[in-house]
Amino acid sequence: MISKKMMKLTQNNSVIRAMFEEGNRLAALHGRENVYDFSLGNPNFPAPPAVEEAIISLTANEDPMTLHGYMSNIGFPDVRRKVADSLNKRFATSFDESNVIMSVGAAGGLNVVFKTLLDPGDEVVAISPYFVEYGNYLDNFDGKLVVVPSMAETFMPDADALRKSVTQRTKAIILNSPNNPTGVIYSEETIKGLAATLEDLSRENGSPIYIISDEPYRELAYDGAYVPFLTKYYKNTIVCYSWSKSLSLSGERIGYILIPSEIDDYKLIFEAAGIATRVLGYVNAPSLMQKAVAECLDAQVDIASYDANRKLLFNALKECGFDPVFPQGAFYMWVKTPCDDKEFAEAAKKHNILLVPGTSFACPGYVRIAYCVSKATIENSLPAFRKLAADTLR
Ligand code: PLP
Repeated sequence: MISKKMMKLTQNNSVIRAMFEEGNRLAALHGRENVYDFSLGNPNFPAPPAVEEAIISLTANEDPMTLHGYMSNIGFPDVRRKVADSLNKRFATSFDESNVIMSVGAAGGLNVVFKTLLDPGDEVVAISPYFVEYGNYLDNFDGKLVVVPSMAETFMPDADALRKSVTQRTKAIILNSPNNPTGVIYSEETIKGLAATLEDLSRENGSPIYIISDEPYRELAYDGAYVPFLTKYYKNTIVCYSWSKSLSLSGERIGYILIPSEIDDYKLIFEAAGIATRVLGYVNAPSLMQKAVAECLDAQVDIASYDANRKLLFNALKECGFDPVFPQGAFYMWVKTPCDDKEFAEAAKKHNILLVPGTSFACPGYVRIAYCVSKATIENSLPAFRKLAADTLR
Protein backbone atom coordinates (compact mmCIF):
# COMPACT_ATOMS: atom_id res chain seq x y z
CA MET A 1 0.00 0.00 0.00
CA ILE A 2 1.24 3.51 -0.74
CA SER A 3 1.28 6.38 1.76
CA LYS A 4 -1.85 8.44 2.40
CA LYS A 5 -0.12 11.53 1.05
CA MET A 6 0.83 9.79 -2.17
CA MET A 7 -2.64 8.30 -2.47
CA LYS A 8 -4.06 11.81 -2.41
CA LEU A 9 -1.54 12.97 -5.01
CA THR A 10 -2.21 9.97 -7.21
CA GLN A 11 -5.90 10.76 -7.13
CA ASN A 12 -5.40 14.47 -7.87
CA ASN A 13 -2.69 13.91 -10.46
CA SER A 14 -1.91 17.29 -11.93
CA VAL A 15 -4.42 18.53 -14.45
CA ILE A 16 -1.53 19.84 -16.54
CA ARG A 17 0.03 16.38 -16.79
CA ALA A 18 -3.37 14.90 -17.56
CA MET A 19 -3.65 17.42 -20.39
CA PHE A 20 -0.26 16.34 -21.69
CA GLU A 21 -1.48 12.77 -21.84
CA GLU A 22 -4.70 13.89 -23.49
CA GLY A 23 -2.54 15.61 -26.12
CA ASN A 24 -0.81 12.34 -26.89
CA ARG A 25 -4.16 10.56 -27.13
CA LEU A 26 -5.58 13.16 -29.52
CA ALA A 27 -2.36 13.15 -31.56
CA ALA A 28 -2.65 9.38 -32.02
CA LEU A 29 -6.23 9.86 -33.25
CA HIS A 30 -5.89 12.97 -35.43
CA GLY A 31 -2.14 13.33 -36.14
CA ARG A 32 0.22 15.51 -34.09
CA GLU A 33 -0.04 18.45 -36.53
CA ASN A 34 -3.80 18.61 -36.00
CA VAL A 35 -3.60 18.92 -32.22
CA TYR A 36 -2.91 22.36 -30.74
CA ASP A 37 -1.29 21.57 -27.45
CA PHE A 38 -0.86 24.72 -25.36
CA SER A 39 -0.89 22.89 -22.05
CA LEU A 40 2.74 22.59 -20.95
CA GLY A 41 5.42 25.21 -20.35
CA ASN A 42 8.03 23.13 -22.12
CA PRO A 43 10.21 25.42 -24.30
CA ASN A 44 9.94 24.82 -28.01
CA PHE A 45 13.04 26.71 -29.14
CA PRO A 46 16.39 24.93 -28.78
CA ALA A 47 19.08 25.97 -26.32
CA PRO A 48 21.43 28.59 -27.82
CA PRO A 49 24.50 27.12 -29.64
CA ALA A 50 26.76 28.24 -26.76
CA VAL A 51 25.28 25.45 -24.60
CA GLU A 52 26.18 22.65 -27.01
CA GLU A 53 29.60 24.18 -27.63
CA ALA A 54 30.26 24.33 -23.89
CA ILE A 55 29.19 20.70 -23.39
CA ILE A 56 31.42 19.50 -26.26
CA SER A 57 34.38 21.51 -25.05
CA LEU A 58 33.93 20.40 -21.44
CA THR A 59 33.68 16.70 -22.29
CA ALA A 60 36.72 16.99 -24.58
CA ASN A 61 38.95 19.03 -22.29
CA GLU A 62 37.99 18.65 -18.63
CA ASP A 63 39.20 15.91 -16.33
CA PRO A 64 36.29 13.41 -16.42
CA MET A 65 36.70 12.58 -12.74
CA THR A 66 36.03 16.22 -11.91
CA LEU A 67 33.43 16.77 -14.59
CA HIS A 68 31.27 13.78 -13.71
CA GLY A 69 32.12 13.18 -10.06
CA TYR A 70 30.59 14.24 -6.76
CA MET A 71 31.52 17.66 -5.55
CA SER A 72 30.52 19.71 -2.52
CA ASN A 73 26.73 19.45 -2.09
CA ILE A 74 26.39 23.15 -2.80
CA GLY A 75 28.10 22.88 -6.19
CA PHE A 76 31.45 23.66 -7.82
CA PRO A 77 33.04 26.76 -6.19
CA ASP A 78 34.21 28.17 -9.55
CA VAL A 79 30.70 27.85 -11.00
CA ARG A 80 29.13 29.51 -7.96
CA ARG A 81 31.66 32.31 -8.22
CA LYS A 82 30.86 32.85 -11.91
CA VAL A 83 27.12 32.97 -11.16
CA ALA A 84 27.73 35.53 -8.39
CA ASP A 85 30.00 37.63 -10.66
CA SER A 86 27.39 37.58 -13.41
CA LEU A 87 24.68 38.79 -11.00
CA ASN A 88 26.99 41.51 -9.68
CA LYS A 89 27.65 42.71 -13.20
CA ARG A 90 23.95 42.81 -14.08
CA PHE A 91 22.44 44.10 -10.86
CA ALA A 92 25.28 46.01 -9.19
CA THR A 93 25.21 43.61 -6.22
CA SER A 94 28.14 42.17 -4.26
CA PHE A 95 27.57 38.44 -4.02
CA ASP A 96 30.24 35.75 -4.03
CA GLU A 97 30.30 31.96 -4.02
CA SER A 98 29.21 31.92 -0.38
CA ASN A 99 25.80 33.20 -1.52
CA VAL A 100 25.10 30.63 -4.26
CA ILE A 101 24.01 27.00 -4.05
CA MET A 102 23.55 25.14 -7.32
CA SER A 103 20.14 23.45 -7.49
CA VAL A 104 18.15 20.90 -9.45
CA GLY A 105 16.13 23.54 -11.31
CA ALA A 106 13.78 25.96 -9.57
CA ALA A 107 11.69 23.03 -8.34
CA GLY A 108 14.71 21.52 -6.60
CA GLY A 109 15.65 24.95 -5.23
CA LEU A 110 12.18 25.54 -3.81
CA ASN A 111 12.13 22.12 -2.14
CA VAL A 112 15.54 22.81 -0.58
CA VAL A 113 14.41 26.20 0.71
CA PHE A 114 11.16 24.80 2.12
CA LYS A 115 13.05 21.95 3.80
CA THR A 116 15.45 24.52 5.23
CA LEU A 117 12.85 26.94 6.60
CA LEU A 118 9.73 25.01 7.53
CA ASP A 119 8.54 23.19 10.59
CA PRO A 120 5.29 21.24 10.21
CA GLY A 121 2.34 23.66 10.19
CA ASP A 122 4.42 26.67 9.14
CA GLU A 123 2.65 28.78 6.55
CA VAL A 124 3.83 30.01 3.17
CA VAL A 125 1.84 32.53 1.17
CA ALA A 126 1.36 32.23 -2.58
CA ILE A 127 -0.36 34.83 -4.72
CA SER A 128 -3.11 33.39 -6.89
CA PRO A 129 -3.11 32.51 -9.66
CA TYR A 130 0.00 30.52 -8.81
CA PHE A 131 2.09 27.61 -10.10
CA VAL A 132 0.15 24.57 -9.00
CA GLU A 133 3.12 22.57 -7.71
CA TYR A 134 3.79 24.98 -4.82
CA GLY A 135 1.18 23.22 -2.72
CA ASN A 136 2.69 19.83 -3.42
CA TYR A 137 6.22 21.00 -2.62
CA LEU A 138 5.03 22.49 0.66
CA ASP A 139 3.18 19.31 1.51
CA ASN A 140 6.52 17.46 1.28
CA PHE A 141 7.46 19.27 4.50
CA ASP A 142 4.01 19.51 6.06
CA GLY A 143 4.00 23.23 5.31
CA LYS A 144 0.68 24.98 4.79
CA LEU A 145 -0.07 26.92 1.64
CA VAL A 146 -1.99 30.16 2.23
CA VAL A 147 -3.45 31.57 -0.96
CA VAL A 148 -3.82 35.33 -1.30
CA PRO A 149 -5.61 36.52 -4.45
CA SER A 150 -3.83 39.03 -6.66
CA MET A 151 -5.56 42.27 -7.58
CA ALA A 152 -8.35 41.98 -10.14
CA GLU A 153 -7.37 42.98 -13.69
CA THR A 154 -3.67 43.78 -12.96
CA PHE A 155 -2.83 40.46 -11.23
CA MET A 156 -0.31 42.29 -9.05
CA PRO A 157 0.11 41.10 -5.43
CA ASP A 158 -2.20 42.92 -3.04
CA ALA A 159 -0.36 44.14 0.08
CA ASP A 160 -3.61 44.72 2.00
CA ALA A 161 -4.87 41.21 1.29
CA LEU A 162 -1.46 39.89 2.30
CA ARG A 163 -1.62 41.74 5.61
CA LYS A 164 -4.93 40.02 6.42
CA SER A 165 -3.56 36.55 5.67
CA VAL A 166 -0.33 36.64 7.65
CA THR A 167 -0.29 34.86 10.99
CA GLN A 168 2.33 34.10 13.62
CA ARG A 169 3.11 30.92 11.63
CA THR A 170 3.88 32.72 8.34
CA LYS A 171 7.45 31.88 7.36
CA ALA A 172 7.61 33.08 3.78
CA ILE A 173 5.86 34.38 0.72
CA ILE A 174 6.57 33.05 -2.77
CA LEU A 175 6.72 35.64 -5.53
CA ASN A 176 6.95 34.63 -9.17
CA SER A 177 7.62 37.37 -11.70
CA PRO A 178 7.45 37.22 -14.67
CA ASN A 179 4.48 35.20 -13.65
CA ASN A 180 3.19 31.78 -14.57
CA PRO A 181 0.30 31.77 -15.52
CA THR A 182 -0.54 35.47 -16.08
CA GLY A 183 2.59 36.72 -17.90
CA VAL A 184 2.53 39.77 -15.63
CA ILE A 185 5.77 41.36 -14.35
CA TYR A 186 5.45 42.77 -10.83
CA SER A 187 6.17 46.49 -11.02
CA GLU A 188 8.81 48.23 -8.93
CA GLU A 189 6.08 50.18 -7.14
CA THR A 190 4.28 46.95 -6.21
CA ILE A 191 7.49 45.38 -4.95
CA LYS A 192 8.32 48.42 -2.84
CA GLY A 193 4.83 48.34 -1.29
CA LEU A 194 5.09 44.62 -0.58
CA ALA A 195 8.55 45.01 0.94
CA ALA A 196 7.32 47.75 3.30
CA THR A 197 4.33 45.60 4.33
CA LEU A 198 6.52 42.55 4.91
CA GLU A 199 8.93 44.57 7.02
CA ASP A 200 6.03 45.75 9.21
CA LEU A 201 4.60 42.25 9.47
CA SER A 202 7.99 40.72 10.32
CA ARG A 203 8.44 43.31 13.06
CA GLU A 204 4.95 42.58 14.43
CA ASN A 205 5.63 38.84 14.32
CA GLY A 206 9.04 39.21 15.95
CA SER A 207 10.55 36.95 13.26
CA PRO A 208 11.35 37.43 9.58
CA ILE A 209 8.95 36.61 6.79
CA TYR A 210 11.19 35.64 3.90
CA ILE A 211 10.45 36.37 0.26
CA ILE A 212 11.18 33.33 -1.87
CA SER A 213 11.55 34.70 -5.37
CA ASP A 214 10.81 31.93 -7.87
CA GLU A 215 12.49 33.13 -11.06
CA PRO A 216 12.47 30.64 -13.95
CA TYR A 217 11.19 33.38 -16.27
CA ARG A 218 13.48 36.26 -15.24
CA GLU A 219 15.10 36.50 -18.69
CA LEU A 220 11.82 36.23 -20.58
CA ALA A 221 10.76 39.87 -20.39
CA TYR A 222 9.50 41.61 -23.53
CA ASP A 223 10.02 45.12 -24.84
CA GLY A 224 12.97 45.61 -22.47
CA ALA A 225 10.63 45.44 -19.44
CA TYR A 226 12.36 45.87 -16.07
CA VAL A 227 12.06 42.90 -13.73
CA PRO A 228 12.93 44.18 -10.23
CA PHE A 229 15.75 42.19 -8.61
CA LEU A 230 14.17 41.53 -5.25
CA THR A 231 17.23 41.32 -2.99
CA LYS A 232 17.64 45.04 -3.66
CA TYR A 233 14.21 45.84 -2.25
CA TYR A 234 13.85 43.42 0.66
CA LYS A 235 16.67 42.16 2.85
CA ASN A 236 15.19 38.74 3.63
CA THR A 237 14.92 37.55 0.03
CA ILE A 238 16.02 34.13 -1.19
CA VAL A 239 16.07 33.62 -4.96
CA CYS A 240 15.35 30.31 -6.71
CA TYR A 241 16.55 30.67 -10.29
CA SER A 242 16.50 28.18 -13.13
CA TRP A 243 17.89 27.81 -16.64
CA SER A 244 14.95 25.58 -17.64
CA LYS A 245 13.32 28.32 -19.67
CA SER A 246 16.04 30.94 -20.14
CA LEU A 247 18.30 28.42 -21.88
CA SER A 248 15.63 25.85 -22.84
CA LEU A 249 17.22 23.27 -20.54
CA SER A 250 14.13 22.11 -18.67
CA GLY A 251 15.06 18.42 -18.79
CA GLU A 252 18.61 19.03 -17.58
CA ARG A 253 17.46 20.21 -14.14
CA ILE A 254 19.80 23.07 -13.39
CA GLY A 255 19.38 26.29 -11.40
CA TYR A 256 20.67 27.99 -8.28
CA ILE A 257 19.56 29.31 -4.92
CA LEU A 258 20.82 32.77 -4.03
CA ILE A 259 21.09 33.42 -0.28
CA PRO A 260 22.33 36.98 0.38
CA SER A 261 24.65 37.47 3.38
CA GLU A 262 22.31 40.19 4.72
CA ILE A 263 19.36 37.89 5.42
CA ASP A 264 18.54 37.00 9.01
CA ASP A 265 20.24 33.76 10.06
CA TYR A 266 22.28 33.73 6.85
CA LYS A 267 24.95 31.32 8.12
CA LEU A 268 22.48 28.80 9.47
CA ILE A 269 20.27 29.02 6.39
CA PHE A 270 23.14 28.61 3.93
CA GLU A 271 24.55 25.63 5.80
CA ALA A 272 21.12 24.03 6.21
CA ALA A 273 20.29 24.49 2.52
CA GLY A 274 23.50 22.66 1.59
CA ILE A 275 22.54 19.79 3.89
CA ALA A 276 18.96 19.85 2.56
CA THR A 277 20.37 19.49 -0.98
CA ARG A 278 22.09 16.31 0.18
CA VAL A 279 19.41 14.74 2.34
CA LEU A 280 16.60 15.35 -0.14
CA GLY A 281 18.55 12.99 -2.36
CA TYR A 282 19.64 15.57 -4.92
CA VAL A 283 23.17 15.29 -3.41
CA ASN A 284 24.28 18.04 -5.79
CA ALA A 285 23.01 19.71 -8.96
CA PRO A 286 24.02 17.87 -12.18
CA SER A 287 27.78 18.37 -12.51
CA LEU A 288 28.19 18.67 -16.29
CA MET A 289 25.29 21.13 -16.44
CA GLN A 290 26.76 23.27 -13.67
CA LYS A 291 29.95 23.66 -15.69
CA ALA A 292 28.05 24.17 -18.96
CA VAL A 293 25.75 26.96 -17.73
CA ALA A 294 28.72 28.71 -16.15
CA GLU A 295 30.08 29.12 -19.71
CA CYS A 296 26.74 30.46 -20.97
CA LEU A 297 25.78 33.10 -18.43
CA ASP A 298 25.34 35.72 -21.13
CA ALA A 299 23.52 33.43 -23.60
CA GLN A 300 19.78 33.69 -24.23
CA VAL A 301 17.10 31.66 -25.96
CA ASP A 302 15.41 33.15 -28.98
CA ILE A 303 13.11 35.52 -27.13
CA ALA A 304 12.17 37.24 -30.42
CA SER A 305 10.33 34.08 -31.46
CA TYR A 306 8.37 33.96 -28.20
CA ASP A 307 7.62 37.64 -28.69
CA ALA A 308 6.32 36.98 -32.23
CA ASN A 309 4.11 34.17 -30.87
CA ARG A 310 2.87 36.48 -28.13
CA LYS A 311 1.74 39.15 -30.56
CA LEU A 312 0.31 36.73 -33.11
CA LEU A 313 -1.77 34.88 -30.53
CA PHE A 314 -2.88 37.98 -28.62
CA ASN A 315 -4.11 39.75 -31.76
CA ALA A 316 -5.83 36.64 -33.07
CA LEU A 317 -7.63 35.99 -29.77
CA LYS A 318 -8.75 39.61 -29.62
CA GLU A 319 -10.08 39.35 -33.17
CA CYS A 320 -12.03 36.26 -32.15
CA GLY A 321 -13.65 38.33 -29.37
CA PHE A 322 -11.76 36.79 -26.43
CA ASP A 323 -10.29 38.83 -23.60
CA PRO A 324 -6.59 37.93 -23.11
CA VAL A 325 -4.08 39.69 -20.81
CA PHE A 326 -1.18 41.04 -22.90
CA PRO A 327 1.83 39.25 -21.35
CA GLN A 328 4.86 41.30 -20.34
CA GLY A 329 6.98 38.22 -19.70
CA ALA A 330 7.18 34.40 -19.55
CA PHE A 331 5.40 32.52 -22.35
CA TYR A 332 1.86 32.19 -21.08
CA MET A 333 -1.32 33.98 -22.08
CA TRP A 334 -4.04 34.33 -19.47
CA VAL A 335 -7.46 34.58 -21.02
CA LYS A 336 -10.82 35.37 -19.40
CA THR A 337 -13.33 32.65 -20.19
CA PRO A 338 -16.86 33.49 -21.31
CA CYS A 339 -18.16 30.50 -19.30
CA ASP A 340 -16.90 28.21 -16.54
CA ASP A 341 -13.15 27.70 -17.19
CA LYS A 342 -13.31 23.91 -17.00
CA GLU A 343 -16.25 23.86 -19.42
CA PHE A 344 -14.32 26.21 -21.70
CA ALA A 345 -11.26 23.93 -21.66
CA GLU A 346 -13.55 20.98 -22.50
CA ALA A 347 -15.11 22.96 -25.35
CA ALA A 348 -11.60 23.77 -26.63
CA LYS A 349 -10.69 20.08 -26.59
CA LYS A 350 -13.51 19.41 -29.07
CA HIS A 351 -11.48 21.53 -31.51
CA ASN A 352 -8.24 19.77 -30.54
CA ILE A 353 -7.05 22.77 -28.52
CA LEU A 354 -5.51 21.93 -25.16
CA LEU A 355 -5.54 24.66 -22.51
CA VAL A 356 -5.26 24.60 -18.73
CA PRO A 357 -8.28 25.86 -16.74
CA GLY A 358 -7.63 28.67 -14.27
CA THR A 359 -9.06 26.52 -11.48
CA SER A 360 -5.76 24.62 -11.60
CA PHE A 361 -4.02 27.85 -10.57
CA ALA A 362 -6.64 28.67 -7.88
CA CYS A 363 -8.18 31.30 -10.15
CA PRO A 364 -11.37 30.19 -11.91
CA GLY A 365 -12.76 32.16 -14.82
CA TYR A 366 -9.58 32.07 -16.89
CA VAL A 367 -7.51 29.64 -18.94
CA ARG A 368 -3.76 29.53 -19.51
CA ILE A 369 -2.36 29.18 -23.00
CA ALA A 370 1.35 28.22 -23.09
CA TYR A 371 2.59 29.76 -26.35
CA CYS A 372 6.09 28.23 -26.16
CA VAL A 373 5.12 26.30 -29.31
CA SER A 374 6.05 26.66 -32.97
CA LYS A 375 4.63 29.59 -34.90
CA ALA A 376 2.98 27.03 -37.21
CA THR A 377 1.09 25.53 -34.27
CA ILE A 378 -0.37 28.93 -33.47
CA GLU A 379 -1.16 29.72 -37.11
CA ASN A 380 -2.79 26.35 -37.67
CA SER A 381 -4.79 26.64 -34.46
CA LEU A 382 -6.47 29.91 -35.40
CA PRO A 383 -9.43 28.41 -37.33
CA ALA A 384 -10.02 26.15 -34.30
CA PHE A 385 -9.99 29.18 -31.96
CA ARG A 386 -12.52 30.87 -34.26
CA LYS A 387 -14.79 27.84 -33.97
CA LEU A 388 -14.31 27.86 -30.19
CA ALA A 389 -15.34 31.52 -30.14
CA ALA A 390 -18.47 30.70 -32.16
CA ASP A 391 -19.30 27.93 -29.66
CA THR A 392 -18.73 29.90 -26.48
CA LEU A 393 -19.14 33.65 -27.08
CA ARG A 394 -22.54 35.12 -27.48
N1 PLP B 1 8.19 27.77 -10.84
C1 PLP B 1 7.38 28.11 -11.85
C2 PLP B 1 6.54 29.33 -11.70
C3 PLP B 1 7.33 27.34 -13.01
O1 PLP B 1 6.50 27.70 -13.99
C4 PLP B 1 8.14 26.20 -13.10
C5 PLP B 1 8.09 25.34 -14.29
O2 PLP B 1 7.30 25.47 -15.17
C6 PLP B 1 8.98 25.89 -12.03
C7 PLP B 1 8.98 26.70 -10.91
C8 PLP B 1 9.89 24.71 -12.06
O3 PLP B 1 10.96 25.00 -12.91
P1 PLP B 1 12.22 24.05 -13.06
O4 PLP B 1 12.08 23.32 -14.36
O5 PLP B 1 13.38 24.96 -13.09
O6 PLP B 1 12.26 23.15 -11.90
